[in-house]
Amino acid sequence: MIAVYPGSFDPATNGHLDIIERAARIFDQLIVTVFRNAGKNPLFTMEERVELLREATAHIPNVRIDSFGGLLTQYAKEQGARVLVKGLRAVSDFDYEFQMALMNKKLDPELETLFMMTGQKYSYLSSSIVKELAGFGGCIEGLVPPNVAKRLMETIEKSGVRKG
Ligand code: ADP
Repeated sequence: MIAVYPGSFDPATNGHLDIIERAARIFDQLIVTVFRNAGKNPLFTMEERVELLREATAHIPNVRIDSFGGLLTQYAKEQGARVLVKGLRAVSDFDYEFQMALMNKKLDPELETLFMMTGQKYSYLSSSIVKELAGFGGCIEGLVPPNVAKRLMETIEKSGVRKG
């Protein structure tokens, strides 16, 4: 069975990677797909986010990295996927994810949304908190894969985003 794990991945964190590794053990193929137009003023381009995910998941044979725009339900259908995988951290994720899951169910009743609880170590972790921390020169070791840490530092140096 094929599953799709969608997100902005700006950038991928160890919390994402934890979900990817666990979901890849359940499904025959996991397609991790990057929103093409993350309306969040992303730090990394779509190509960079895809590249970073490819490097960080190179050790998992049944994971494929892709990107998409438009309707997620449509995309999942085109990929032959019957399941959407979502990670849940705190209660704060619930409202939005609940709404999305119901809407996607309405759009495509055949498609299931499967929620995976965050790994305990990663419950506080989000891409935005990592970017903020890195921007202030904080230590991001253990929060993101090594290739992401390296690119994050380079990008922050280059863009002068670094604060303080
Ligand atoms: P963020 O919310 O960090 O900007 P994304 O939009 O890239 O992340 O999230 C993609 C998916 O990954 C969502 O389902 C989100 O709930 C999940 N996710 C993000 N961070 C974690 C984490 N630390 N643990 C578990 N799931 C996570």
